[in-house]
Amino acid sequence: MLRNLESAPDLAGQVVFLRVDANVPLDNGVITDDGRIRAFLATLHWLLEKGARVVLGSHLGRPSGHFEDKYSLAPVAKRLEELCGRAVVLAAGVNGQSLQDALSEEDSGAIVMLENLRFDERETSKDDAARQELASEWAQHVSFVVEDGFGVVHRKQASVFDLPSLIPSVAGLLVEKEVDVVQRLTRQVEHPYTVVLGGSKVSDKLGVIEALLPAVDNVLVGGGMVFTVLAALGHPVGRSLVELDQIPVVESFLAQAKDAGVRIVVPTDIVMAAEFHQDAPHVVLPVTGLETGPSGASGMGLDIGPESSQEFARIIHESATVFWNGPMGVFEFDAFSQGTRAVADALATSQGFTVVGGGDSAAAVRTFGYDESSFGHISTGGGASLEFLEGKVLPGLEILGWKP
Ligand code: ADP
Ligand code: MG
Repeated sequence: MLRNLESAPDLAGQVVFLRVDANVPLDNGVITDDGRIRAFLATLHWLLEKGARVVLGSHLGRPSGHFEDKYSLAPVAKRLEELCGRAVVLAAGVNGQSLQDALSEEDSGAIVMLENLRFDERETSKDDAARQELASEWAQHVSFVVEDGFGVVHRKQASVFDLPSLIPSVAGLLVEKEVDVVQRLTRQVEHPYTVVLGGSKVSDKLGVIEALLPAVDNVLVGGGMVFTVLAALGHPVGRSLVELDQIPVVESFLAQAKDAGVRIVVPTDIVMAAEFHQDAPHVVLPVTGLETGPSGASGMGLDIGPESSQEFARIIHESATVFWNGPMGVFEFDAFSQGTRAVADALATSQGFTVVGGGDSAAAVRTFGYDESSFGHISTGGGASLEFLEGKVLPGLEILGWKP
């Protein structure tokens, strides 16, 4: 059983370390999507209401073990102040001393936030002793830890795994909800169950589809990864994204799907562009003739075509459960966002239980302006949800009492 906030002791006046995933997308220091901050607010409020003194810990991007201005959590601290109406004291650093200093500066009712945890190389170290050293520096000042960063539960890191092995810990509301949702996708699924897969890399995602095969009815494939599948099916795909080394893997996957009675649906038409550019000239071509357009064999597929979008939407509407991971095209370019919009729209208007997983897919539905409540759940953890669905052991959940 995953320990949750209900089982927390009296936290009034206690210093509580709240590990979150505030790894938001930034454009020149401006947060372009604050979904991940909003996602942990419920847990933060819960703790503040109980009178806890909260120390927030999060990573942001991939800094290389030392302070780098562009990875500072300063924009996150500022946004959090606006969202929760309390002062947020951003610590100068990450280690025990920084934590102690920030706590001594904290006025009553303020929230302390450590700097980007990955500014300290011990956070992500492969050396157990180094991680434990950082965790024990924190443990000297903190009496309880709440893990609410679902996006990192698959990582064995100081704040995710080592700190909870030193002091009492529970899962926060977001982690509890995410676990509940992924369980609904694996154990108590309602059929028909459709998985929509896209995004850039087959190699990232094939493990999940394989693990899901026994449970699903339909797999709809789009995005950059579809070209490896089309290539495996013998279609020339021009200069589209293809992972040649994955073709045998895809072939064996297609055979497995057939044995398992799972329908694999690939697009019947593709938007082929002259180059990878937002203004690139483009045409819609049937999958059997992707090299027959004006660019010939130098064209590249950047989106699924309208006929495919319609068919995908139809299957989604007939499904009781839908899990979507990975955009259908290069949705960052408006001209190639049609397929991703169509899938987002089909999920949003579906009567079934719909889950959006994956950082880019989640960002896509929010930038398209959909209300989060139109979906059953928008997951904050791309890699973590996928590894959970694959049935892997997640160190950050196991340490909280969870068992597969
Ligand atoms: P998620 O974060 O939702 O799991 P991924 O990270 O796997 O999704 O993939 C997202 C990226 O895939 C997006 O940046 C998108 O532009 C890219 N992509 C989608 N379709 C294509 C395509 N046809 N060619 C190249 N890149 C693509
Ligand atoms: Mg991504």
